Amino acid sequence: MIFSELYNSGLRLLEENGIDDSRFECDNLFRFACGVNKTELLTHPECKADKQQCERFLSLVKKRCSGYPLQYILGSWEFMGFDFAVGEGVLIPRPETELLVLEAEKLINKNRSTVIFDLCAGSGAIGLSLAARNENTKVYLFEKYKGALSFLEENVKRLSVDNAEAVECDVLREPSSLPEAPDIIISNPPYIKTGELPLLQREVHFEPQTALDGGDDGLLFYRAILKNWVIRLKRGGTLLLECAEDQSEQLLSLFSSVSSETETIKDFNNIDRIVKITV
Ligand code: GLN
Repeated sequence: MIFSELYNSGLRLLEENGIDDSRFECDNLFRFACGVNKTELLTHPECKADKQQCERFLSLVKKRCSGYPLQYILGSWEFMGFDFAVGEGVLIPRPETELLVLEAEKLINKNRSTVIFDLCAGSGAIGLSLAARNENTKVYLFEKYKGALSFLEENVKRLSVDNAEAVECDVLREPSSLPEAPDIIISNPPYIKTGELPLLQREVHFEPQTALDGGDDGLLFYRAILKNWVIRLKRGGTLLLECAEDQSEQLLSLFSSVSSETETIKDFNNIDRIVKITV
């Protein structure tokens, strides 16, 4: 089979199986499976694909058609311009979470070291991007699950940051000894209500439920952050939390006893996505 025929048969399968953005996904799968990028495909459509390329591409297309996330197939995904290792056992970084990084950067003081805690760090997308983009920071990334920690540790190496450290830790428990007091606590914790998990799109069912499940009302982790972590902040420090669209008001009232200043920040879909609390 020639490249263009192989590509088109994959594209058709993706379309028939209701994959949005099927052309983008097909380009990615073709490049990944056949080692042929879009330009090479366009300039040499008549080039013959070998048996291995055909089998590999079509089997990955079928896997994708079953709902398996593209990001897990590719094994890496871009966030803040960095290529993060992702796969089963870790949440895929979402584009709206980049806003959380940008908000934190507004608070980083260039003239002295800023200590940042990233709670429920997963792949490390938030904390490692901050560490890589801002030399004068020290970032500690707290994560409980071994499956996620292995990606996190790989990403520390990938981004070759020496100002970041992964810490195995359950955010729901009171931390025992902490390395230093943070200026910023940042977190995209699990915040989906348990009852809503079955309603999520099918790709999300392949992601770790532990990274999504925020308990009956979705606020389990925010309560733990209030109880166990906020007191660790330096005076005048800031908490930056990602949340679901209906949670910002609840978060502001939950944290009202410790907040001196608050702000809610919308994402590019005009949804309240970040709550910023200064203590
Ligand atoms: N934003 C994610 C989603 O919509 C949820 C991430 C989380 O629970 N922190 O699937």
